[in-house]
Amino acid sequence: MAPTTQIAIPIVSNHPPLADQLRAAYAAGAGLVELRVDLIDDVAAVERLLQGPAIVPTILTVRAADEGGAWAQDDATRVALIERLGLLGPEYVDIELATWQRSANLRQKIGLVATRTDQPIATLDRRRGQLILSHHDFRTTPTDLDARLAQLEATPAHVLKAVFRPRDATDALRVMAALAARAQQRPWVLLALDEAGLVSRVLARKFGAFLTFATLGDVGASAPGQPSLTLLRDVYRWDAITPQTRVYGVVGWPVTHSLSPHIHNAALAAAGVDGVYLPFPVRADQGDFNAFMNYVAAHPQLDIHGLSVTIPHKEHALQWLRARGGALDAVSAACGAVNTLVRRPGGTWSGMNTDALGVRAALTACPRLHTQTLAGQSIAILGAGGAARAAAAALVADGCHVTVYNRSPQRAAQLAADLGCSAAPWETRGATTAEIIINCTSVGLHPHVNETPLPAETLRPEQVVFDTIYRPARTRLLREAAERGCATISGLDMFLAQAAAQFTAWHGQPPPAGVMQRVLDRVAG
Ligand code: NAP
Repeated sequence: MAPTTQIAIPIVSNHPPLADQLRAAYAAGAGLVELRVDLIDDVAAVERLLQGPAIVPTILTVRAADEGGAWAQDDATRVALIERLGLLGPEYVDIELATWQRSANLRQKIGLVATRTDQPIATLDRRRGQLILSHHDFRTTPTDLDARLAQLEATPAHVLKAVFRPRDATDALRVMAALAARAQQRPWVLLALDEAGLVSRVLARKFGAFLTFATLGDVGASAPGQPSLTLLRDVYRWDAITPQTRVYGVVGWPVTHSLSPHIHNAALAAAGVDGVYLPFPVRADQGDFNAFMNYVAAHPQLDIHGLSVTIPHKEHALQWLRARGGALDAVSAACGAVNTLVRRPGGTWSGMNTDALGVRAALTACPRLHTQTLAGQSIAILGAGGAARAAAAALVADGCHVTVYNRSPQRAAQLAADLGCSAAPWETRGATTAEIIINCTSVGLHPHVNETPLPAETLRPEQVVFDTIYRPARTRLLREAAERGCATISGLDMFLAQAAAQFTAWHGQPPPAGVMQRVLDRVAG
């Protein structure tokens, strides 16, 4: 059965006119709109709207300032306004739990315009909306989340709603686990704010929430982190999400600009796989990563089956797996970093490193190298971080002669010792005679697009220059290398190849040909 979770559009201003916004919401397939009277700031316009013909069901909300709203006057005036507008027939009336609990007199007044579940059916009045009781914590997701939610559960509201500020994606998952445990008993809305909360807005449908909020355009959010309807539908596959949908994603800090959700979701759709891929921003420490993964592993009901791991967590992922005795592929073990986590049947997790596969695939796809084997080629790697280690691990295994140049010489020496290649001083990189040069430093990465790790005059036309950076797709290093006649390889090729290898590891089939490339061309410009 398809989930019944509705999309609610927040209406936060009177421009364009309210009726036009409601018609647009209806046309976009929204099931509800929330009239945020505190933000619209034009009571007469709301009154006219509610007196006019019905367009799409409405939630009437005049949110208090202490719960994230803009209502600056006292409660008595606010409740009087809710009473006045509530008599005009909105389908739902939202009031904060704290306000509801404050006085019997107030409850009685709200009762004049909103029905509750504890009223005998005979006394229910069709002209009154249903009561939504809500709770907003803009500071935190409390450790005693269940106790907080129990207060809502003890009320006779038709719909129970709670919104929390997550510290990072771990809190957003706690909110989702709370929803999964409750949504079958009562209509619930459980959401987390900010970028870390996107998971709660998308997975609301999987776990059977009453609604999720989405804006009609890129503006008009009534809370931080509300996605647009386009993002929800076109990127995060809203209409395809079912209770069985498996969850995948990318763990990093930050992950705001990650292109992975775009390409993986498009490939899932094209392959007809019942899955969705989300960003999971997890704070930068090993402890934060462990907390996230321990939560994921302990809550199989969240249905998380695979994760990409990006900066700064690739080494943290390896440490987490080692501590749990999880399986590692040879490349991860050799380069000390994991960029892909796979949940195995039985709930154990294993790690692999597809960056190494990406380096190899990008090199072998280069027309100039097409006819040659990599074995025996001399390769200069600039950098000694995670990407450099993955590249060196793959290329040493392929029989290449690898020399590492790194700004911090100890790191280069350590890499060379660990992986069985050579190290040379950073200052001598311009004198390299290597046939292939691979930039694995972050020099030239957005926004420092005018920087380059290698002076242009040191490049020779017979060399192949590969920049692992993919933001921008054409770095200064690649532009200058092309001008000097070198063959060039963009980090996008590596990115696509490593993503395709992840897709195959999770779904047992490669992504449909060309889909990831087409999406990347569109979103990476
Ligand atoms: P990392 O572990 O933080 O390593 C960064 C490297 O850059 C280190 O070797 C560092 O040298 C060097 N570096 C930083 N600033 C420098 C400067 N001003 N001058 C000289 N060297 C400098 O990062 P990573 O994970 O390896 O990522 C490195 C790059 O690879 C990033 O740009 C990333 O976008 C790219 N990458 C691409 C893909 C893909 O799929 N295309 C995948 C992974 C990574 P020190 O040791 O001296 O600090």
